[in-house]
Amino acid sequence: MVGHPPPKDQPGFSDQPDWPGQPDWPGQPDWYEAGLQHLWFPYSQMKTAQPPLAIASTHGERLQLADGRSLIDGIASWWTAAHGYNHPHILAAIQKQLQAMPHVMFGGLMHEPAARLAARLAQHLPGDLDRVFFAESGSVSVEVAMKIALQYGINQGRRRHRFLFFRHGYHGDTLGTMAVCDPDEGMHRHFEGMLAQQIMGELPDDPARLTALDDLMSRHADDLAAVIIEPLVQGAGGMRFHRPETLKVVADLCKKHDILLILDEIFTGFGRTGTLFACQQAGIVPDIITLSKALTGGTLPLSAAIARRGIYDAFHSDDPDHALMHGPTYMAHALGCAAANASLDLFQSEDRLGQCAAISRQLADELEPCRHFPGVRDVRILGAIGVVELMRPPNIDKLRQAFIDRGLWIRPLGSVVYLTPALTISPADLSALTEGIRACLKDL
Ligand code: PMP
Repeated sequence: MVGHPPPKDQPGFSDQPDWPGQPDWPGQPDWYEAGLQHLWFPYSQMKTAQPPLAIASTHGERLQLADGRSLIDGIASWWTAAHGYNHPHILAAIQKQLQAMPHVMFGGLMHEPAARLAARLAQHLPGDLDRVFFAESGSVSVEVAMKIALQYGINQGRRRHRFLFFRHGYHGDTLGTMAVCDPDEGMHRHFEGMLAQQIMGELPDDPARLTALDDLMSRHADDLAAVIIEPLVQGAGGMRFHRPETLKVVADLCKKHDILLILDEIFTGFGRTGTLFACQQAGIVPDIITLSKALTGGTLPLSAAIARRGIYDAFHSDDPDHALMHGPTYMAHALGCAAANASLDLFQSEDRLGQCAAISRQLADELEPCRHFPGVRDVRILGAIGVVELMRPPNIDKLRQAFIDRGLWIRPLGSVVYLTPALTISPADLSALTEGIRACLKDL
């Protein structure tokens, strides 16, 4: 019976976890092996993956392992922990909110943390992006953005049903978002032919591609509900950067063909690329923007799809059918909103963008030597993102272990070794990370 393992006392139940070998660490916690038999980990072939590390706590830029070791985190938990872990201001805000109210349904009720956060996001975002729909994860906020784009057309009597995305793009793991991820190189390639048929374009980073994209958009203008793009950095698709001018071209083509533009700033939002939002570097305002990850400073799950006034206006009517029929149970989670407000306080009171610029300079100085290593294809830096791309994927397990042996947490993405540290990381800890990368990649 699929999905229902026999109870423990029946034959067929294996007490042995399906991992290649049990980690044999002194100090391994008692919950480790029992839990391993029941957990399903992300992006992992469970049969062959290295056993995960047992984490006891976090602090600043450090992961404290259950066996007593401590690692400097080069990734900030998928680039969420912009202020480092356990920032006292965020913890205090969560604790205060916890005493008052952890969560309440958002249908027919509202609360101060969400109200304050929505108003503050509207104030910080460019242009008239000022109508905020909260959700809990990045993927769901992209789903909401896509749904808003579809219904924007429906409410005006235009049934445009397709989306244009870009090669190497990544927008999430749910069914709708999988259909706008790169189908060839992305991690969802075996679902080809099973998802909604969307349209893939090439980033217009040269004149020939600009013409090709212009033609593609012109051909599909009557079908396209929106164009969706990760501005300046295609993250999970290989940490690929494009210039603000390229982003501007995409925005201009959307205007020319009267197609909505969705910017997915789930990775790039909140200072990662050097400005609070990446779109500010291109001087553009999308029709809808999605935010998550560093929104709560890496503490609680929260996301938002935020629409321009003109988009919202198409929903604001006497016709009940014009309403947006969406409402995640935990939307606008009060603890998450309190954490996000505290995170915004820190962006205002501490010089995160200055720290990002300093990280950028240090990454450039200290990763640049890797360019001359055999096996290295490219070194690139943008904001607080440092990338060393290899010619071919390394033995990931071996490389990861070599980093761990040096007290570093760095998780290569295929052939891309990258750093997205907390914006608060000290120069000494950042140097330990870059030195580790240089040492481990030198002889690959
Ligand atoms: N869009 C982008 C650009 C992302 O980087 C991610 C997460 N890596 C997502 C969407 C999906 O977010 P989540 O994992 O929270 O669903």
